[in-house]
Amino acid sequence: MGNDSMTLTERLKKWVTGSKDPEMYQYQCNVCQATFDSPEADIQAAACDACGASNVRALE
Ligand SMILES: [Zn+2]
Repeated sequence: MGNDSMTLTERLKKWVTGSKDPEMYQYQCNVCQATFDSPEADIQAAACDACGASNVRALE
């Protein structure tokens, strides 16, 4: 066998999932300063993982 370790299935899977990667947004809580990732693009809908506060700000 060759050195190509990636099977066709893996290639396809990577291509499919890579094109539709669930984007995560980084937020920091203004209350407890915890940072967390959320799939929520809308900051109004994002809530702190640690304390549940919706008073968060986006990182980067
Ligand atoms: Zn918090």
